[in-house]
Amino acid sequence: LPVTDAHLLEAADVRAVLPRPGAADDKYTRGVVGLAAGSEQYAGAGVLATGSAVHGGAGMVRYVGLAPDPVRARYPEVVVHPDSRPHDVRVQAWVVGPGLGTDGTAMALLADVLSTDVPVIADADAITLIARTPRLIRGRSAPTVITPHDREFERIAGQPGPDRLAAARRAARDLGATVLLKGNATVVAAPDGTAYVNPTGTPWLATAGSGDVLSGLIGALLASGLRAPLAAAAAAYAHGVAGQLAAADGPPSAADVLAELRGALGSLATG
Ligand code: AMP
Ligand code: MG
Repeated sequence: LPVTDAHLLEAADVRAVLPRPGAADDKYTRGVVGLAAGSEQYAGAGVLATGSAVHGGAGMVRYVGLAPDPVRARYPEVVVHPDSRPHDVRVQAWVVGPGLGTDGTAMALLADVLSTDVPVIADADAITLIARTPRLIRGRSAPTVITPHDREFERIAGQPGPDRLAAARRAARDLGATVLLKGNATVVAAPDGTAYVNPTGTPWLATAGSGDVLSGLIGALLASGLRAPLAAAAAAYAHGVAGQLAAADGPPSAADVLAELRGALGSLATG
């Protein structure tokens, strides 16, 4: 893997940026994350991404997705806004896309989220929809992060090819968004060319829902005020550690990775 002039992430980098609440903090200053994820057909993706925002260190998580009942049942901490539009819900970052679907309702919700002036992490179905209408993210005033796997990357920016770092950088510049290209070594590129390579993780992370856990964590870190490329890179690192911890007990599900997230963040924070 060519890592020329990209930063190879280390635990110390992540420790330095992981948010820790201070004495003067309250739940709002710690960061409020909004989730526009999940639908009737793919409710689980919304639950996983929401749970990851909850455990990823957000002060509060708000849910405006299309499948509120399973989220409510699973996470009593989450404030559910079944009939609100994103503009009427105050958050410091939005997570949009996991399990959202690609129909007109999903598209309308995505467009509403992208027209806000807060950072957005767009994943999964949101990437598929943005690939059809790239102007949705090109004109944003706040940072956008997209987190494609290879097939999603191909939809939005063409084949990544062998030099994944160069591909992510090209896409980041073209789209004006931070691009986290998932894989055995996940790479993160910012529109200005800043790039990170993540060394953590395990092929056991190649399991349904695993990416949804990553999205929610990026949302929590964005809401805490981390700059978009660092939020994406630190989340990839911690998600990889959580995957390794989960895999140590046997083949992990995405829920197992989520269950290890607190432990991973805790050990990274204390070193
Ligand atoms: P998704 O495809 O959205 O569910 O995301 C899959 C997650 O698993 C990402 O965090 C990938 O980096 C990770 N992943 C997938 N395949 C591998 C692999 N072969 N080795 C390491 N990590 C992987
Ligand atoms: Mg995914």
